[in-house]
Amino acid sequence: MTAPQDAPLKAPWSFALPESVHRVPASALPALIERLPKAELHLHIEGSLEPELIFALAQRNGVALPYASVEALRAAYAFTDLQSFLDIYYAGASVLLQEQDFFDMAWAYLLRAQADQVVRAELFFDPQTHTERGVPFEVVIRGLHRACRQAQASLGVSADLILCFLRHLSEEEALATLQQALPYRDLFIGVGLDSAERGHPPEKFARVFAQARALGLHVVAHAGEEGPPAYVWSALDVLQVERIDHGVRSVEDPALMDRLAAQGVPLTVCPLSNLKLCVVRDLADHPLPTLLAAGLKATINADDPAYFGGYLNDNWRATFAALPQLGPAQAYALARHSLEATFAPPEVQAAWVARLDAAFEEAAAASAPLRP
Ligand SMILES: [Zn+2]
Repeated sequence: MTAPQDAPLKAPWSFALPESVHRVPASALPALIERLPKAELHLHIEGSLEPELIFALAQRNGVALPYASVEALRAAYAFTDLQSFLDIYYAGASVLLQEQDFFDMAWAYLLRAQADQVVRAELFFDPQTHTERGVPFEVVIRGLHRACRQAQASLGVSADLILCFLRHLSEEEALATLQQALPYRDLFIGVGLDSAERGHPPEKFARVFAQARALGLHVVAHAGEEGPPAYVWSALDVLQVERIDHGVRSVEDPALMDRLAAQGVPLTVCPLSNLKLCVVRDLADHPLPTLLAAGLKATINADDPAYFGGYLNDNWRATFAALPQLGPAQAYALARHSLEATFAPPEVQAAWVARLDAAFEEAAAASAPLRP
């Protein structure tokens, strides 16, 4: 196995690597990545619903589940692709009925996020999954938003919400959802596009994204996960997104790679999700090192942690263990990209970057040989 410090440290990124990065030995990296301050930018809050909480909420709400036990539900998490995952994902969400249920779900995630040193979380939620079951939009957003505010106040985790449209539904339904959301405009910061990608190109949602931009909302979209690089192009050109969620299939298109690097478009990459949904066969084959080497602003995220085998630090740990090309320089870049790709104000981002630099400095100092 190649030692991480032997990996090329050429940084094509928009910032200079702090000198401390070069003094962190490979042996210190596993412990260091656990405590780096990071942002989580691709996290579906409904995908953080653990089987234990699904059962607890089902009991509280008197919802019958088609699984006999927590173990039986967990055993059913054997997906082969995005669609087979989505089927069970929507079944799990059926236990969410009251505002407190949405709060409890988000709070459970935010506690996990704090443990993983997440300083900023921009959480996706899928209102259509709930409104089509008769749960009012207001119930969903008030529960989630209350958890975000409480996280800031008592956990020190900055958190905001991004409303996602389900792309397998029509644009008319997305437009109606945006209308429903307008009275709560102050409770979310942006819109996104998720669910089954194939056959549902970004341009299908051109009008609703134009409306969202006109309202001053941030815009992001899933593209280039199972869908082709063409979907990444249209997410950029038609939807004018600020970040691409996933985007790993961009590696198939050199012109697209050049554009993403030149424009500094962040990619919210989700390694364990890609593995679980067979976007990659093995984590050792993951294109993350290629994206970084090409100067792209790639980040690591958990996607649907309850379903894909891990939260943010689990993703970091597994990715670094599988890819010896990733060393201290790449760890620094991934964390810094995540902090600078947030929709937080620049001065807040700068304070987080200072904490990142301090973590590297501390690790380098702790590893320095003692002076005679
Ligand atoms: Zn996703």
